[in-house]
Amino acid sequence: MEDTYKHKGLRKQLVLEIAKKGIKDKGVLNAINKIPRHYFFDKIFDQHAYEDKAFPIDAGQTISQPYTVAFQSQMLQVKPGDKILEIGTGSGYQACVLVEMGAKVYTIEYQKKLYQKAIRFLPKLGYQPHMYQGDGSKGMPRFAPYDGIIVTAGAPTVPEELIQQLKIGGRLVIPVGNNDIQSMVLIQKVDENKIKKKQFDHFSFVPLQGERGWPSNGGGK
Ligand code: SAM
Repeated sequence: MEDTYKHKGLRKQLVLEIAKKGIKDKGVLNAINKIPRHYFFDKIFDQHAYEDKAFPIDAGQTISQPYTVAFQSQMLQVKPGDKILEIGTGSGYQACVLVEMGAKVYTIEYQKKLYQKAIRFLPKLGYQPHMYQGDGSKGMPRFAPYDGIIVTAGAPTVPEELIQQLKIGGRLVIPVGNNDIQSMVLIQKVDENKIKKKQFDHFSFVPLQGERGWPSNGGGK
């Protein structure tokens, strides 16, 4: 695949569009400007890569809307070297944005097919997040604590385990709601017993599966 002047131009326009919608974090905007989102699409659909829309990928899942990726990334307030856990690798695009921002990224995907694709594809683009396959709805305690946790699928409630796996001062960004529409919940861990919580409307994600997710009719294991 090629990253042509046309792709670069469309990407710049996308960055301007999401900046206009309220994204201010320079690290986020630079990452979106740099990563060729069309590489994450099948060639026949690559003209859709720079629309500010979610798009279907394999296994009935989606690559999130660029504005949503930017919004969640901005809420994490990533500093270079931060250890970030992503739950829901999907296409791997969000993980690449976080790596580009200087984070040390751990990412877990429920669907085997998507995991296998990401683990082959991301290193070819020069991105090396730590990738795992399995149910991430209870986090990944073996690498905790994290500076930030981002969940990229809609959860019925906030899993307590994710708060436990945050460092003091760490941030959790998770969409919570029903199967169609969710609020983005931002939780900051103030100390071992205290959290601060904010909520932003309205987002629409595919459902979180696994133990702390929605009951599924099949799975990725
Ligand atoms: N971050 C992704 C990207 O940049 O393409 C977007 C992913 S999509 C909106 C949500 C992903 O979460 C899907 O790939 C889905 O299979 C995954 N997922 C759902 N439940 C999960 C769970 N319990 N553990 C890990 N991944 C999960």
